[in-house]
Amino acid sequence: MKPASAELTDLAERAEALLAPRFREIDRCALENTERVLRAFQDNRVSDACFGGTTGYGYDDVGRETLEKIYAQIFGAEAALVRIGLVNGTHAITTALFAAAEPGKKLLSVTGTPYDTLRTVIGLSGETYGTLKYYGIGYAQTELAPDGGADIPAIRRAADDKDVCAVTIQRSRGYGQRRALTVEEIGEICRAVREVNPAARIVVDNCYGEFTQTLEPTHVGADLIAGSLIKNPGGGLAPAGGYVAGKKELVERAAARMTTPGIGGECGATLGNNRLLFQGLFLAPHTVAQALKTAAFCAAMLTELGFATSPGPLEPRPDIIQTIELGSEENMKRFCAGIQSSSPVDSYVRPEPWPMPGYDCPVIMAAGTFVQGSSIELSCDGPIREPYSVYLQGGQTYEAGKLAILRAIGEMLDKR
Ligand SMILES: *Cc1c(COP(=O)(O)O)cnc(C)c1O
Repeated sequence: MKPASAELTDLAERAEALLAPRFREIDRCALENTERVLRAFQDNRVSDACFGGTTGYGYDDVGRETLEKIYAQIFGAEAALVRIGLVNGTHAITTALFAAAEPGKKLLSVTGTPYDTLRTVIGLSGETYGTLKYYGIGYAQTELAPDGGADIPAIRRAADDKDVCAVTIQRSRGYGQRRALTVEEIGEICRAVREVNPAARIVVDNCYGEFTQTLEPTHVGADLIAGSLIKNPGGGLAPAGGYVAGKKELVERAAARMTTPGIGGECGATLGNNRLLFQGLFLAPHTVAQALKTAAFCAAMLTELGFATSPGPLEPRPDIIQTIELGSEENMKRFCAGIQSSSPVDSYVRPEPWPMPGYDCPVIMAAGTFVQGSSIELSCDGPIREPYSVYLQGGQTYEAGKLAILRAIGEMLDKR
């Protein structure tokens, strides 16, 4: 690996000096979250017996049942479903949306158009079979306010409708041109919805948000949250899976959607994966802190070099995603190549833009990860179109994250 130039090393030192107070805040958050996670492990008497696994039907899996109690406790929820059989975040969120929905009624999104894969689930992308729409569940949405926050008056108007049985909130920016919402803002939305429609079930897409703050949406009024184990809460160790947490009755409904009515969460062999899910959760608050520092370092460096970044280096980070406007296709390719070449896995391949299904332009993706598609591991991607933005997320260690960003900037500035 080529060492960073003296100029970049100097810039990095200034960036870290600027970020020192932010890094201290991130450390404080990780300490508090670690304490909450540890307490849940202790209260639920985790022992070696939890790390064995079941096969076949997977009845009476002590590890799985203990882990679900721990997730519930950490998230301030009544119950949780934590499964390797939830194939990704989309699957987990889908079970939650079906749990909250009633045929003949409506789902209301209050954070604009949902994440790409969920549009298909709702029935907005042309696909019909199995969607919410197919089962007679309607859809409406309100947009975010001009400042990127929740538009409370619009939410009150839209939720004040007896046909609205479920409200969905997306915490993270996902791959959109918006910012992430803080848990406090999510609490404000929950209060507004409750005032006009106390029966509506509130579901939060919690992807990329877990452990970025010391509270989760279920602590401030959400009925259900759902997310992916190859993002924040898997701590980089979970090999696959998703979770749903919240009200017991709704978690049971989500389980029935995941398996079948009558079986719900009683079945689901863990096949020897329990230890990785426990150990990943134990590490998750620390791992998320590493990813947040990596993102902040990236923002500080690129802001200093004249690029537009969101969030800015000193802005709050309620998710682990960093957006950078690189201004040209060439810059995107070089930056992503730099990230890829400093990865621990597949460092020798060069990412190229490709026509990814569901996008109207080529997409470039850099990811040299141990777990396929894991985005708590450092990864960087973006659609090749104006304003030529890349989305950077993850980083299991700040050290590797920092080295990758220095390398990516070096690659990009060599020829500009
Ligand atoms: C990652 C993500 C999802 C789920 O994506 P999967 O690839 O299915 O895990 C959903 N919503 C948001 C906002 C996300 O970032």
